[in-house]
Order: sequence, then C-alpha cells, then structure tokens
Amino acid sequence: MNFDTKLDEAIARLHEEGRYRTFIDIKRERGDFPHALWKRPDGSERQVTVWCSNDYLGMGQHPVVLDAMHEAIDSAGAGSGGTRNISGTTVYHKILEHELADLHGKEASLLFSSAYIANDATLSTMPKLFPGLIIYSDELNHASMIEGIRRNGGQKRIFRHNNLAHLRELLEADDPAAPKLIAFESIYSMDGDFGPIEAICDLADEFSALTYCDEVHAVGMYGPRGGGVADRDRLLHRLDIVNGTLAKAYGVMGGYIASSSKFCDAIRSYAPGFIFTTSLPPAVAAGAAASVAYLKRNGELRKLHQTRANILKLRLKGLGLPIIDYGSHIVPVIVGDPVHTKKVSDMLLEGYGIYVQPINFPTVPRGTERLRFTPSPVHGANEMDNLINAVEDLWSHCTYAQPCRAISMI
Ligand SMILES: *Cc1c(COP(=O)(O)O)cnc(C)c1O
Repeated sequence: MNFDTKLDEAIARLHEEGRYRTFIDIKRERGDFPHALWKRPDGSERQVTVWCSNDYLGMGQHPVVLDAMHEAIDSAGAGSGGTRNISGTTVYHKILEHELADLHGKEASLLFSSAYIANDATLSTMPKLFPGLIIYSDELNHASMIEGIRRNGGQKRIFRHNNLAHLRELLEADDPAAPKLIAFESIYSMDGDFGPIEAICDLADEFSALTYCDEVHAVGMYGPRGGGVADRDRLLHRLDIVNGTLAKAYGVMGGYIASSSKFCDAIRSYAPGFIFTTSLPPAVAAGAAASVAYLKRNGELRKLHQTRANILKLRLKGLGLPIIDYGSHIVPVIVGDPVHTKKVSDMLLEGYGIYVQPINFPTVPRGTERLRFTPSPVHGANEMDNLINAVEDLWSHCTYAQPCRAISMI
C-alpha cells in the first residue's frame, strides 16, 4: 500500500466536503479574556474576541484558581509523578475528589484525565461489573459516551433524542431481569437543549435501571452550588452516576464521575483508562478544587452568565437570525452548509476580530452546520455590541450568510 497516497485521499475528502479542520492559533491574555492574540499563519498578530470558548465563566483566569495553582506548583512541583496506584495519589487529588462528591451529593468521586476519558473508561468498564448489562443511550450523546458504549462488548440500545416513549418501548422489549443503564446528558452542547432528568429517573425506577448523566455543560453553571441541572432541579439524589468536567466552567482541566463509594471503588480497580495513566498534576487538581469550591459559594457569575446569554439571544433574534433557544446558555446560529459556515466564520475573524469556530459534521448532523456562541460574564457591553454590529453587517450584505435566512428552526 502507498500510505502517503491514502493519506492524501483522506485529507482531500475533508476538503471536498468542506470539513477540513483549521485550528486558529490564539494566545489568551490573562486578565483580559475574552480577548486574545490571534497568530496568523504568516506570523502577524491581531487582537480578537473569543466567542466560542468553553471557559464559560472566565474561571480560567480567576485569581482564586491561579493562586491555588501557583501555590501548588511552588510547594509540590510540576507533575504528580505517577499513576494513582503508584505514587500519583496526592493530597490535592483527595481534596478535589472530596469537593466533587460533595458537589453532587454523592459518597465518592473519581478523577480522570478528562471527562472524555471518564465517560469512555466508565461506560466501557461497566459490563465487566454487571454481566449482561444493556445500555440505553440517547442518540445525541457525546462521542465519549458513544465510544465507551460501543467498545464495551455489551449490549446497547439507542433511543431517539429525549424521546421517553421510545426509551420506554426499548426498556419494555428487554428481559426484565437483565441489568440496565440509561445514559444521557443534562444539557446537549450543540443545540443547548436539556435532557428530561426527572422523567428518565422515573423510567429507571420503573425498570430497575441505573442512571448515568453527563453534566459536563452544566457543572459550575446551574444549581445553587453549581452542581448542574440536577442540582437546580433538586434531583441529585436520583442520579446513580454523574459525569462532569473541570475544563469548561471550572476553567482548568480534568474529568470525573461522582457516585456511590462502592461504584467508584470498583471502577478504580477495573477501568484501564483510570489505572494505566498518570494522575493529574497537583497544580491542576489544586486549581480545579479552588474553582469548584469558589463556585459553590458564589452564585454571581452563574447569574451574570445567564443574563449575558439571554441578552445575546434576544439581540440575535432581533436581527432575525435562526438561533436555537431552549433556555440554556448555549447560543447556536444555524447556517446549514459547511462551506458557508466556514466562510462566515473566516469573515468574522478577518473583518471584525471576532472568533467563533465553525461547527461541522460529525460534531453536528450534516445540513445543520452552525456557529455556536458562548457568551460569558466577561463578555461585556462593548464585546456584545461589536458582535451584533458585525453579524448585522455580514447578514445584510453577504451572500454567504444568506442560507441562514432560509432555514427556519424551532
Ligand atoms: C466536552 C465534553 C466532554 C469532554 O470533556 P473534556 O473534559 O473536555 O474531555 C464530555 N461530554 C460532553 C457532553 C462534552 O461536551
């Protein structure tokens, strides 16, 4: 085989379909986020406003987080030096796991390198713990859940997105004695819609199934203490396993599950994705713990975040743009074509210093390519005005943006 030719063909396919990924090089400026320096391929630089970061609350530059990280580096050094089993469990990891268990009202939590790994490692390990396990998975679940479920060797059923009748139908069709798990998200990050947590928990009770909820796009941002949508809706006790990230609203890095002590204890010793990899650096754990603790006590950023999201949605709707609005903080504008989406994104960046990454297949279904804006407490009135003016300019003058008008959403 000519390997180079195969690679050329694979890359050419991406270009043809308009989904070749171009990474934008930016340097975030501490104290000045959402502003960042964009380094163009020719080496020149320009200041831009980032409108697509998952650092939803600006915690990535919060003094409380940075101080905790500096302090940990100064006292414990750079890396953890090992896997959790072999010298890599430090006081920082224990403190963070304690914070997270408390955040979700669970007995225990378990840290992973990322929420991707947490989903993949946990879901792929579960059939080892519960032989014959059937996993019922929402069709729009994140790739990390899909991967874990796909290669776990167990049985799976995919239910239509948020469709309780379909989920019930699938549950009823299986052996009542078979162990079951329902896996879903509290907020689906591409449309920003909510999963029906309570109704799914009711079904789970009826069919003696476990529940597994990915709260990645909600932790830190919803609930009186930032415990996610289940915290907001007082449903924490009804979820068996919660998955969260420390990389989005908490502004650092890492992922986790929170559950019973027994469940975490079993995953700890059965999941290769937990066992055979170096634990998070102490400074990362310390920064994340400070962030989680801070957001438990302080709700102002959460409130401001929702306010900013509502303002942006209102103003985009005022321009007549096809935005998707389910009442969450995520603001998707559908363009509906990969080439046009990329073009609009390029024009916003080049012409207006506004950085919003185009989102294409396979992250979203073909035909629903979009720009996904993530307003935050640090996107003030100026940033908002600049964005609205730029979008208005583009949509009224530019043919590339016109497909937007043609697509009517919700
Ligand atoms: C981002 C994301 C993840 C992965 O989180 P990381 O900590 O970045 O690996 C998992 N689930 C969902 C729904 C996500 O959007």
